[in-house]
Amino acid sequence: MPHVLLVEDEPAIADTLVYALETECFTVTHTLTGSDALAAAGSGNFDFAILDIGLPDMTGLEVCRRLREISAIPVLFLTARDGELDRILGLELGGDDYVTKPFSPREIVARVRAILRRTGALVSQTHETPASEKHAFIHHDPSAMRIHCAGTPLDLTAHEYKLLLVLMEHPGRVFTRDQLLDHAWQDPGAVTDRTVDAHIKSIRSKLRAASNGAENLIETRRGLGYSLAPKS
Ligand code: CA
Repeated sequence: MPHVLLVEDEPAIADTLVYALETECFTVTHTLTGSDALAAAGSGNFDFAILDIGLPDMTGLEVCRRLREISAIPVLFLTARDGELDRILGLELGGDDYVTKPFSPREIVARVRAILRRTGALVSQTHETPASEKHAFIHHDPSAMRIHCAGTPLDLTAHEYKLLLVLMEHPGRVFTRDQLLDHAWQDPGAVTDRTVDAHIKSIRSKLRAASNGAENLIETRRGLGYSLAPKS
């Protein structure tokens, strides 16, 4: 469970971010000031830092500079100013990305995931899928990036592959459409919930064809989302 250090002095923004991250199974430590953040960073084990640029005691850039002396964790900046200067300064100081306010919490979660995946911290989720290996009907071959159903390789599009993989990682767990969008699309803002439904429909028909219609593997939880049938 990745541990995120969030430094944000506006409680309303911090609250929505903490909620969004915890919903997505991150552990979050939130501080209001840069000095509290650095104290936490010195004593805690963090995988990621989200730094607001405008803090009461020092800038987020300064926090990043000092953080870099003790840690190499990825950093995402939150900035109220859409200035080129912030961007260049932030990234030169060793930040990995930045987001301009106002933003959606979903966008932040997607960025954190993308950066962790890029830097290898989420490797266990993308390359090792022990749960799926044991599924009676579906099997993932990570090196070939193929999913087999009842022994037949499925001819999936890239998005279908990623969607099904997310479901396979946690059989029985219900994923909302938003969560599926965040996991399977690099730019979730560009697509809608209906896109998820359309892809699920297509995956279902491919699963049905491969398994001779034997199983309804993807369950719809009305008003909630989708889940993969737990292993029998
Ligand atoms: Ca601020």
